[in-house]
Formats: sequence, structure tokens, C-alpha cells
Amino acid sequence: SNKIVVDPDLEVIKKKMENIKHKVLILSGKGGVGKSTLSSQLAYTISKNEDIQIGLCDIDITGPSQPIIMGAENEPVHQSNTGITPVYVQDNLAVMSIGFLLENQDDSVIWRGPKKNGLIKHFLKDVEWGDLDLLLFDTPPGTSDEHLSIVQYLKGCNIDGAILISTPQEISIQDVRKEINFCKKVNMPILGIVENMSGFVCPSCKGESIIFPATNGGVKALCEEINVPFLGAIPLDPRIVNSCDAGEPFVDSYPDSPASDRYTEISNKI
Ligand code: ADP
Repeated sequence: SNKIVVDPDLEVIKKKMENIKHKVLILSGKGGVGKSTLSSQLAYTISKNEDIQIGLCDIDITGPSQPIIMGAENEPVHQSNTGITPVYVQDNLAVMSIGFLLENQDDSVIWRGPKKNGLIKHFLKDVEWGDLDLLLFDTPPGTSDEHLSIVQYLKGCNIDGAILISTPQEISIQDVRKEINFCKKVNMPILGIVENMSGFVCPSCKGESIIFPATNGGVKALCEEINVPFLGAIPLDPRIVNSCDAGEPFVDSYPDSPASDRYTEISNKI
């Protein structure tokens, strides 16, 4: 009864992850706060350095958004006996989304934990990333089966840590606190927290103004309180929605936007 059961899949995952220098999870307490947008724009910004090989892995089973944001919605994904080839949106930027593998997106909404775990494991084990400098994981909001599985399957694989994102409102910040507790429980380092949708970039004058005042000092105050790095505040810019819906890199299309500057600053900190 004290036999140690070794899961051979975990060995395969570990071997694969040895070829990936840095692994970072992007987390949020709530949905709709800009987590997938941040993941995609960080990937684009970092990939401007041609010497860096980067992967973006979308493990949101019930709402994968990277196929659309990365303009890869209709790209064929090749699956063979040896594995799954990610979609290369640039020579040095590979994208893989659970959305590519789901035949019917709507079915997944009712999947229970074990089925989700199985899919995440398959994903970690079989996607052929090759050698990467950085792999970013876009996760579902909150702490769900997907998070628990990924932490469990990547145990011993040296995850660098998590970047959290929240809007300035107290209601979103409260949910980030739950996320922070999750990180603590699973011993996941917090690399820092990003505030999103703070301020507004006026389409006509391109100036920045505050729309939603942060009631209690927003994310910056939270970071000071819990002593984690504040990674920056990204303003609302309606052009982000246009770019992401069109599957175009916002940071390349609107390099003059203060939001693009912020994505660049954040990418320099990770
Ligand atoms: P999440 O991944 O947290 O659910 P998304 O990244 O999908 O959130 O963002 C939700 C919506 O808000 C999307 O339509 C996205 O284009 C938009 N969005 C995200 N960040 C900004 C921003 N800074 N300014 C304007 N729109 C944004």
C-alpha cells in the first residue's frame, strides 16, 4: 500500500518543459478584465525581438479567445502520432489554443473536472513547442479545474510564476485577492499585478483621462499592501477591441497609443 505510483505522462511533460526556459501563467479573478488581451499583446511585444522564441498557450476550455485574437481562427492544426503542431503566427511566435481542438465549443461548457484535466494533460504532453525562451499560459478566470490541473501537471517543471490582472474597481480587486491566496496555497510566485482599463485614451485628442476612479487606490495600493511588484496600468483604448476582434496585433497597429507603451513596459519587466 505504500507503493509509489509514477504517472509516466508527467515524465513526458517534464522532458518537454525542459526545452522551455521560462513559463509564466496569466491569471485574473474575474472574466472580461483583459487577461487574454494582455497575454496576446505581451506575446506580440516580446516577439519583436527576433532572437526570442515565444509560445502562447490558451488553456481556457470554456472560453478560448486566442484563436480570434491571434488571427488564427481558421488555421489548421496538425495532429499526428508524435504530437500537435502549434500555429505559427510569426516565425518566432507559436500559438496553441484548446479552442483549436474542440469540435463543438458549446459542449465543453458542461464538462466535468476529470475530462478537463485529461484535455489539459494531453495538451501539455503533446503540443510540439520545440525550444522556447518563454511560454505564456492564458488561463480561464478565477481558479478552476484548469488551474489546478496545470499546477499539478507542471509540478517540478519550474514555473517562473504568475502575472495577475485586474481592473481598478474594488469588486475586481477583491477577486484578485482570492487569486493571490490560490497562488500562495500552491506555492506559485506572483511576478506582479497589472491594472487594466484604468483611464481612457480619447480617440480624437489621444490624451488619457480617468473614468473609473480607483476607490481604494486600485491595484497599486494592493501591490503595496501585499508587497508584490505593480507592473503598470493600461488605459482603456477602444482600438484594442477593434484590433483583437480583427485578429491583428494592437501594439503593432497603434504603436502611438499609451496602451501600447504600457504593454511594452510590462513585457520589459518579465
Ligand atoms: P478576459 O481574458 O479577462 O476575459 P479579454 O482580454 O477577453 O478579457 O477582454 C475583454 C474585452 O475587453 C475584449 O473585448 C477586449 O478587447 C477588451 N479590452 C481589454 N483590455 C482593454 C483595454 N485596455 N481597452 C479597451 N478594451 C479592452
